[in-house]
Amino acid sequence: MESDRQIVITGNWKMNKSTEETVAFVKGILPKIEAANALIYLAVPFTVIQPAVEATGGSKLVIGAQNMHDATDGAFTGEIAGGMLKDVGARFVILGHSERRHIFNESNSFINSKIKRALLDEIQPVLCIGETLEEHESGKIEEVLYTQLKESLEDITPEQLAKMIIAYEPVWAIGTDKTATPQHAQDTHRLCRDYLADKWGKEVADKIVMQYGGSVKPENAKSLLEQPDIDGLLVGKASLNLDFFSQIVNYR
Ligand code: PEP
Repeated sequence: MESDRQIVITGNWKMNKSTEETVAFVKGILPKIEAANALIYLAVPFTVIQPAVEATGGSKLVIGAQNMHDATDGAFTGEIAGGMLKDVGARFVILGHSERRHIFNESNSFINSKIKRALLDEIQPVLCIGETLEEHESGKIEEVLYTQLKESLEDITPEQLAKMIIAYEPVWAIGTDKTATPQHAQDTHRLCRDYLADKWGKEVADKIVMQYGGSVKPENAKSLLEQPDIDGLLVGKASLNLDFFSQIVNYR
């Protein structure tokens, strides 16, 4: 049974697609999302945010970024500020993706600082959390997820939290073809929602959109979205393919 929360399906392109490929994809997906009951987000590389936004032509496709820095400006060679993302039309930003945590050693406190900056910049933060295979197998799921939520969301008010999306992405499921079962994903989303209710209050916990991510494909999108606490999907590889992504957004 689905809840009455808005369904949000996000594509995360990672480090893929040229300007030409981006414009072709956006123009191709627009007619396919018209009838979708979900909001569709695309997290694209920095270099194609502006062409992607222009190609949406004011439709319901929302373009965002995959990362940002926590400072407004200054001597941070190679970094991007939230104000710069906003300037080119980005409306949301993925923060704390497992590739940022594990390849680029981003800590919960740095992610917390970026979330605060994104909120000040009026860019919607999409916070990713998730346990590694080792943590999963040693029964540390709760401990890991609660710590990620506690430290990444430190000093965030319930009003600010209500503006965010949280994505549960088990690291062992990302890019591995090993999707979590709908039951496991549901149970974990419930755990997280209960933790949010305990710390930030039931009102915001009942309202916040929680996405599942990790090897989502056209074949498993529906069974995941049928779970009561799964309000959306964060899709990596399958979002690069127009046909697969169209099938996912039209999962019904
Ligand atoms: C991701 O990178 O957020 C992701 C879920 O990737 P994939 O769908 O390829 O597992």
